[in-house]
Amino acid sequence: MKVPLLDLVSQYSAIKPEMDAAIQRVLDSGHFILGPEVKAIEKEVADYLGVAHGIGVASGTDALILALRALDIGAGDEVILPAYTFFATIGAVLHVGATPVLVDVDAKDYCIDIAQTRTSVTDKTKAIIPVHLYGQSADMDALAEIAKENDLAIIEDNAQAFGAEYKGRKTGSIGDIGCLSFFPSKNLGGYGDGGMVVTDNPKLAEKITMLRAHGWKKKYFPEVLGYNSRLDALQAAVLRVKLPHIDQWNDGRRKVAHIYSNALAGVENVQTPYEAENRTHVYHLYILQVPNRDELQEKLKEAEIGSSVYYPQPLHLSEPAKELGYKKGDFPVAERASAETIAIPVYPEMSDEQIAYVIEVVKG
Ligand SMILES: *Cc1c(COP(=O)(O)O)cnc(C)c1O
Repeated sequence: MKVPLLDLVSQYSAIKPEMDAAIQRVLDSGHFILGPEVKAIEKEVADYLGVAHGIGVASGTDALILALRALDIGAGDEVILPAYTFFATIGAVLHVGATPVLVDVDAKDYCIDIAQTRTSVTDKTKAIIPVHLYGQSADMDALAEIAKENDLAIIEDNAQAFGAEYKGRKTGSIGDIGCLSFFPSKNLGGYGDGGMVVTDNPKLAEKITMLRAHGWKKKYFPEVLGYNSRLDALQAAVLRVKLPHIDQWNDGRRKVAHIYSNALAGVENVQTPYEAENRTHVYHLYILQVPNRDELQEKLKEAEIGSSVYYPQPLHLSEPAKELGYKKGDFPVAERASAETIAIPVYPEMSDEQIAYVIEVVKG
């Protein structure tokens, strides 16, 4: 038996007629950048999340950059973010010229450590970027309290947690700005790059709308220096087909995850994902922490089971972060996670046999 880490082909097979029709509709329209399809998905996503505005952009990375720019964050400003996440979170901060201030992650949920966030605030701090890593929300109430006390913005990196909830609210809708990625492997993924910025604040929405198109409201008359970062109509049409299925797909991921967690509970040296109360984990990735990670990865490979390491290097040890002066040992939880975590297959199309086979190999 083979079990890929992710199976986008079987997802496509299940929705092929609707998907092919949607793509054909765009081809027939001759309208490929922004336009009615993008407007429609912006509204549909905003409605789903319960926010007033959605602005489609070219990627999740750009969503973070535009969010920071819209908040006028740049040189001389500090932004607090976790040391353990996908590189784009810190990359965006570096790109706008601001100073990333890293903090460790919580050993249970791998999200930003609250106590360290609190002690990292200085009079230069402008924002916190919590990352809802692997599909589970960070502790948003605690962060909101810190933000309020210190007059900071919260930019949620919701790239991995589309559909997740924190105390009944959708992640991405809780902070000042939410950033989404539609990279194909994300829970809501397009067939290419794409992203969205969501916010309740009309002023921020207007700024982001300008920034994604060269900084102009009126064509050819830029008011600020912007970007070319627009969502295209084909991605919008693809996402419009997928969005109505997202709850069912996320439920499917949760089902697989819970079978794994029950079967692997108490297995020596295997730490299964922690699910916080009041948070709905949507299992973008199902992560095991094991001391002998590389050995397990080899075993899975031999058994033809897909796996991957997210992420083999914490941010503070990455080359572009060198100038910040961090060193090995600064963030022990992040470093340990980088050495010991591994993602195993989790997607709603997995068969019972595949799930049982993965469990057998991990246990064996
Ligand atoms: C995927 C991802 C991004 C970036 O999204 P892209 O669409 O690939 O640019 C940002 N942050 C996190 C946590 C991600 O997982």
